Amino acid sequence: MIILLKKNANQTQIEHLTERLKTLGVQTNLSVGSAHTIIGLVGDTTNVDVDMLEALDIVESVQRIQEPFKKANRRFHEDDTIITLENGVKIGGGNFQIMAGPCSVESEEQILTVARAVKEAGATILRGGAFKPRTSPYAFQGLGAEGLRLLKLAKHETGLPIVTELMDASHIELFLENEVDIFQVGARNMQNFELLKQLGKINKPVLLKRGLANTLQELLTSAEYIMAGGNDQVMLCERGIRTFETRTRNTLDLSAIPVLHKLTHLPVVIDPSHATGVASLVPPMALAAAAGGADALIIEVHNNPACALCDGAQSLTPEEFAEMSRRVRAILPYVWR
Ligand code: PEP
Ligand code: MN
Repeated sequence: MIILLKKNANQTQIEHLTERLKTLGVQTNLSVGSAHTIIGLVGDTTNVDVDMLEALDIVESVQRIQEPFKKANRRFHEDDTIITLENGVKIGGGNFQIMAGPCSVESEEQILTVARAVKEAGATILRGGAFKPRTSPYAFQGLGAEGLRLLKLAKHETGLPIVTELMDASHIELFLENEVDIFQVGARNMQNFELLKQLGKINKPVLLKRGLANTLQELLTSAEYIMAGGNDQVMLCERGIRTFETRTRNTLDLSAIPVLHKLTHLPVVIDPSHATGVASLVPPMALAAAAGGADALIIEVHNNPACALCDGAQSLTPEEFAEMSRRVRAILPYVWR
């Protein structure tokens, strides 16, 4: 349920109403937006009398939210959420970022070379997997804790914040010790609800990837799991979904960008690397995503794609990435949001 307040509602009146609502057993969420001030109610609202609320001086209107996601709902929070990383880099609300780096951290030399190259080319966040979700148990599984140590080294060397995938909640401490800036939840774990609940308890941004066969509403209800625990710093990532098409690894659902922007205030990130699976298709899809209003891109880059231990076919060389990044930045002023 949301309570839209009148423009003249003052602080004392708002506090008074909030206290009263809490005694009815609901959680309240005050959102002061550029256009309206809204009190969002979460929980069992059966004891809340809508007619009584509508009769109050400071209340403009009361609406029930039918969707199963509340805190992630645009109606709950009108303005875009802006996520600010520790070094001041912002994502969302008109702040556009490019995350780039290898699929997996492979060695000190590899991650440092790629980190320096992507920074030089305009990336503002470094990606790299340490714990890899591989379809085959015999494929390279990532360097694990050593990979996190190397990412931290690359962060200190370049100043780039780091994003890496968390597969097991028992690794949260290890991630924090290694100064991970953004905790990635991979497509295969989008509905690992216990993992999402644990991420709700930390105070770190989360990059939540859409599952291979999940709807946008399911993506939003997964985001809600994290937010319900108290962590509001969630970014949603479209990384391609399974369709009957076989020429691309997945099908990039670009319409997810405007659909999500309408439904939610959370930033939207596009991953054209996993969506297409083919390096030559990544730059045009990155441009299309930027033009379509994405808040960030996440791109796989490798110093030697032919020898990559994971996802070489979809990895750009540093030179290809630099050209892509230049073109994306060039169109940003013309993007209509
Ligand atoms: C990745 O980012 O390397 C990855 C495994 O992504 P996804 O979960 O989207 O497949
Ligand atoms: Mn990958």
